[in-house]
Amino acid sequence: MKNIYDYTQNQLIEEMAEIGEKKFRATQVFEWLYRKQATSFSEMSNLSLELREKLIKNYDIQTLSLVEKQVAKDGTTKYLFALKDGGLIETVLMRMEYGQSVCVTSQLGCNMGCAFCASGLLKKQRDLSAAEMVGQVMFVNQELLKEGLRVTHVVVMGTGEPFDNYDNVDRFVHILNEPKGLAIGARHMTISTCGLIPKIDQYSDNGLQTNLAISLHAPNDEIRDQLMPINRVYGMDALRQSIKNYIAKTNRRVTFEYILLDGVNDSLAHARQLAHYVHGLNCYINLIPYNPVSENGFQKSSAECVSAFHQELLRLKVNATLRKEHGSDIDAACGQLRAKKMLK
Ligand code: SF4
Repeated sequence: MKNIYDYTQNQLIEEMAEIGEKKFRATQVFEWLYRKQATSFSEMSNLSLELREKLIKNYDIQTLSLVEKQVAKDGTTKYLFALKDGGLIETVLMRMEYGQSVCVTSQLGCNMGCAFCASGLLKKQRDLSAAEMVGQVMFVNQELLKEGLRVTHVVVMGTGEPFDNYDNVDRFVHILNEPKGLAIGARHMTISTCGLIPKIDQYSDNGLQTNLAISLHAPNDEIRDQLMPINRVYGMDALRQSIKNYIAKTNRRVTFEYILLDGVNDSLAHARQLAHYVHGLNCYINLIPYNPVSENGFQKSSAECVSAFHQELLRLKVNATLRKEHGSDIDAACGQLRAKKMLK
């Protein structure tokens, strides 16, 4: 069955036309879903009984159900959800100084095989639909509403490579951006890619002002080849050129994500190589302390090492921030809770 969360407002107008309803019905349904947070069609009291019945017959609202929830001391909350077909996904709420940010999963598993990643332990089974991504945000938003809060930021950085599910992710951000919906500003949404160059090029022409993050995690091809198999297809020089084109076209700043792994990519020489790589790009580097995943043997860099790496980048005039650790007392690494559950 179709899911009602799968549509932008214009697409919902077309859907309503298909079931013989007027345009304004789409606006009403949209407002019920996203403004009044309705979780069933029967709540939509200003719609005729006939329309509510048509909606119930033709569309689902639910996309997922909660399996497990872990809350860390700092308020970071990890949700394990079951999709309709039984697939398990994770969603994370991070409470930041600037608002409530939700990290969304875009695929059931991931084929990119990054060596340090818990999600890469389990291969991709399928792409998530836009509705299944919207469903994650709506669930967390409904929880936050009980505290008088709402989701203000979205990052597509959970399990999966968003650009390997380009059309659905694109549709998802358009739905969240709808003024009569959740109205999450494009600049409050970030899509993270491990570097699928043709899709970065496509994204440059997309027109929506969402942020782009690149999971770089290495200062040179030798290390990146080992950590991220995608680098053997799209090497760092070609990636840099694609990012340069993206910045020239969009006039947007790019974020590089860099996980510090003990003895792998965290020396001062690596910091200098990284500074050289990003030189001349409008970007900043987000240094991320690693959350160890027991299955792969990588360790977290020491606090001294992380600080020295950061200072070296700053000394070389590179914009770099050290990401605060979130939820280190729960299964906070991307895909860790899901992997644990599935490997059981
Ligand atoms: S880091 Fe991202 S792209 Fe790489 S395996 Fe994990 S989920 Fe996939």
